[in-house]
Amino acid sequence: MSSPGPGVLLVHDQRTARFELAPDHPFKPVRMELTRSLLEHAGVLAPSEVVPPADFEEAELLTVHDPEYMADVAALSRGETVARARQRGLGTADNPVFRGMHELVSLVCAGTATAMELVATGKAHRAVNLGGGLHHALRDRASGFCIYNDLAVAIRRAVDRHGLRVAYVDLDAHHGDGVQWLLYEDPNVLKVSLHESGHYLFPGTGHPYETGKGAGRGLSVNVPLEPFTEDASYLEAFDVVVPTALRAFKPDVILLQAGADPHRYDPLADLSLTLTGMRAAYDRVVALSDELTGGRIVATGGGGYDPYRTVPRAWAQLWSALTGRELPAELPGAWQAQWRSRLPEAPIPDRWTDGPSDFKPHPKREQVARRNRVVAGRTAEALQAIWRDTGLVSEVTSS
Ligand SMILES: [Zn+2]
Repeated sequence: MSSPGPGVLLVHDQRTARFELAPDHPFKPVRMELTRSLLEHAGVLAPSEVVPPADFEEAELLTVHDPEYMADVAALSRGETVARARQRGLGTADNPVFRGMHELVSLVCAGTATAMELVATGKAHRAVNLGGGLHHALRDRASGFCIYNDLAVAIRRAVDRHGLRVAYVDLDAHHGDGVQWLLYEDPNVLKVSLHESGHYLFPGTGHPYETGKGAGRGLSVNVPLEPFTEDASYLEAFDVVVPTALRAFKPDVILLQAGADPHRYDPLADLSLTLTGMRAAYDRVVALSDELTGGRIVATGGGGYDPYRTVPRAWAQLWSALTGRELPAELPGAWQAQWRSRLPEAPIPDRWTDGPSDFKPHPKREQVARRNRVVAGRTAEALQAIWRDTGLVSEVTSS
């Protein structure tokens, strides 16, 4: 599988790769450096494929965010006091205030907007911003480590500037609530999220009955999964819901949020995927783009709190899926040596992947799979009824 046309670009900026929300915060930007250097050592990323974010007008953030909220973020970013900071979700353990945060998070938005622009204008076939994926940020409130919503900004640009229909596919372990609520009534954006159920995990939303509103009715698709969901059940749920939704919607471009926190090692979520399962999900999204969007995908990172073992390998698998370039058989020794000397305490892995046979099956495996099957089936059925009603599909389509 090779990418025809202008190729795949990685939008990368050293400043966003180095920022830290707070010293002990679980969001570790070093994972981006780990990933980029892994791709380079593996010989699957050329220097000419790395581009910086293009110039970005801050006013573009207003397509998504409230101006007073942005003014508050900017003031806090300058070190000023803002009385309603906590109402804004800022100055909390999740979203600590730090100097320069407004500029830095604007730069993350610039990165994802650039990736979208490159693909929308045909300068790239696919584009990736691993620093992006801040899917929890709301119109006037920070949430879940996210201050500005780079994904929604990039979607608005695709829809408003380029007239594209966007299918947003969120594979992060947490529900993509910010993107969903910001675009809940938008008929040009399909929002699909597979995540650990909100009954167990932040942000508590993403239930099957959240299906969209007004002109966006039927265009929010949520597949809440049980804790301890393993590869086979995850992929089964994906197959029941995602291809049907995308085929019905007929997008021009897919925006993939590839948070790496559904992995079994992730300390903040309870899904039990392996790298093999995550790669299979990326391959499915790529196949859907080949079928539906002429291959056009914009991808971002997202969550991922096992920064040394899981994230670099997951995102290397993502890059491999998007570029069609095979990873070498062995994890590069020079990469391991470099990071083991730089981070002596960190569990640097020694092979590319892991799979179900590396872990004991969960004692509730069958029960979890059964429950997921019921939820995915009901979600698919309910949505098809809405789509027939709204005219999105004229008859039942099946995958
Ligand atoms: Zn997450």
